[in-house]
Amino acid sequence: MKAHDGMYIGGAWRPAAGTDTIEVVNPADEQVIDRVPAGTAQDVDAAVRAARDAFPAWSTTPPAERAALIGALRDQLVARKDEIAETVTAELGSPLPFSQMVHAGVPILVAGSYADLAATYSFEEKIGNSTVYLEPVGVVGAITPWNYPLHQIVNKVAPALAAGCTVVLKPAEDTPLTAQLFAEAAHEAGIPAGVFNLVTGLGPVAGQALAEHEGVDLVSFTGSTAVGKQIGATAGAAVKRVALELGGKSANVILPSADLAKAVNVGVANVMSNSGQTCSAWTRMLVDSARYDEAVELAAAAAAKYGSRIGPVVNAKQQARVRGYIEKGVEEGARVVAGGAEAPHEQGYFVQPTVFADVTPEMTIAQEEIFGPVVSIIRYEDEDDALRIANGTVYGLAGAVWAADDAEAVAFARRMDTGQVDINGGSFNPQAPFGGYKQSGVGRELGPHGLTEYLQTKSLQF
Ligand code: NAP
Ligand code: MG
Repeated sequence: MKAHDGMYIGGAWRPAAGTDTIEVVNPADEQVIDRVPAGTAQDVDAAVRAARDAFPAWSTTPPAERAALIGALRDQLVARKDEIAETVTAELGSPLPFSQMVHAGVPILVAGSYADLAATYSFEEKIGNSTVYLEPVGVVGAITPWNYPLHQIVNKVAPALAAGCTVVLKPAEDTPLTAQLFAEAAHEAGIPAGVFNLVTGLGPVAGQALAEHEGVDLVSFTGSTAVGKQIGATAGAAVKRVALELGGKSANVILPSADLAKAVNVGVANVMSNSGQTCSAWTRMLVDSARYDEAVELAAAAAAKYGSRIGPVVNAKQQARVRGYIEKGVEEGARVVAGGAEAPHEQGYFVQPTVFADVTPEMTIAQEEIFGPVVSIIRYEDEDDALRIANGTVYGLAGAVWAADDAEAVAFARRMDTGQVDINGGSFNPQAPFGGYKQSGVGRELGPHGLTEYLQTKSLQF
């Protein structure tokens, strides 16, 4: 796609208030592919005003009509599937088949699920002598990261629109082209002017202006814990609703009865997909002492197979960060059994698929989110030890448990402090609530639980 030289505000592409631009870089070859305007507080203000103006009509549009428009938006995403995949590959660097299947495919499912939900959800309930109305919260400020550029946008915009909220989006500076494509889709779908607005720009400028704007009723943020804490504090001070989807350091717990080869292979694939840039990735693999060496061998072989099939990470800063973590792992005494810190190619922000053995639970690489293709294999002595290790980080976003039967895995999963657990390789469900325990966040996305984040109750007593 060719980038728009403006902001999508009030149903039209308008010139930005300032003259600064952001260069969009292809991380596979480090070439500048396009430029978008860098928004300022002025652009954010114009977008929030447009969203406020659109709110009275949109919030009172019958849910069935909102559902039809979200369905039309889904259809526009379907029509742009190839362009979306190519755009994500160009600005994020993920291999095209993955972009087609996941980066373009999953948001279509999520948008479809909210078209269905808006049509069927009961925005009214009876409790005793009360009628309770579920009303939209108001204007949403959505701030999204680059790791799943369209998915993160649709996860917020689709439920917000289904609820009757209007939205101002500030996407990640690394992936603004996908956001512009989404705006085109919303426009073509006939989403009314001002219901969805886009301001591209830098986090500390446009993002912060959006989080602080008094015309915003709810801030929904996905990204780093550091920025999330700041946004939470800002929202708290203004008594604004806030949803935070932050980092993770999820455990892949392989119990002694599990099919080891399957658990290890799926576990390594889970981390390597999207080059490790997945907040819910199972970056800690927990294996019992008796089968530890076998697991290490299997994981090293699985990672080696990825070799050059893995895409780059998003930018030079992330590449340096991930390589720094690999060096830190070696310094702290972990053993590299696949990959390593050296960049595999001269050009592009690539990192080798890396597996560490002899990782202990307190090491930096076992505690901090690396956001790169790095798996740490940790030894446990018994189930209680495994549970202590699994729960032993500040995070609690996701995880996996493998055992000979589901019941044994479920019993373990119920003791984990985390928001999602895949049992024996259970597949992603785009309607299951997604979100974190502990410092992985506040609130939930996807499905009916994701919808309620954008609703507030009004009780009438009779
Ligand atoms: P980030 O800075 O938290 O970026 C997330 C979003 O917040 C982006 O749109 C960003 O804009 C914006 N932002 C940054 N500073 C802001 C501020 N002061 N006020 C309002 N918005 C602000 O994350 P990052 O720098 O891209 O990545 C750093 C680390 O965060 C990663 O290594 C990873 O550990 C974690 N991360 C987690 C997720 C997740 O899904 N949970 C996603 C991405 C990253 P800019 O794009 O201009 O920075
Ligand atoms: Mg940033």
